Amino acid sequence: MEPSGSTGATHHSALRYTSHGISFDYTVEMSLMESDLAGFSSATDSEGTVQISYQGADRLEQYGVMWIKPQSMPSNMARTPEAALDFLFEIVGLAGTRITDRSEYNTTTTDGHEVIYQTFGVPESDYTIPGIIGAWHCEETGRFLLQYLIYVEDFENLEVPYQGMEQMWRDHLDGITCHGIE
Ligand SMILES: [Zn+2]
Repeated sequence: MEPSGSTGATHHSALRYTSHGISFDYTVEMSLMESDLAGFSSATDSEGTVQISYQGADRLEQYGVMWIKPQSMPSNMARTPEAALDFLFEIVGLAGTRITDRSEYNTTTTDGHEVIYQTFGVPESDYTIPGIIGAWHCEETGRFLLQYLIYVEDFENLEVPYQGMEQMWRDHLDGITCHGIE
């Protein structure tokens, strides 16, 4: 029997990340890594990334949130969510991860912010891991936020595309608090 009167918690094992003005839930079977964008040193309030991941023999799930102040971006880049995305993919590329198939931008909103997002792929030797990434400017904290998901539902059935990808990304997006945290 489940205890009655619980207050709407859907996971017994929910943990909450709250740091650098960002907050979201994740579950205990996932591992968390936090660093600066290039992965060489610690995250700061000016720039950072937090990655939540699970990789088993069966499936791969990885998502994360990144933040960057406009002044931490190269001076020749525009101060837009699109440019923040380009900058991030540049960093990821320099770290040795190839990104392909960047789609046209779609738009949505979260928590009062306008969000641009696109799909992309991470090619492996004989298949490509699908991903979705969104970017927005948080006026309240003066930072660009980026949020992504890469997901393989079942390594045994790679040729069957997972249909719930965008909804899963959307659910993560809705779970992020990007301002107003004490
Ligand atoms: Zn915000």
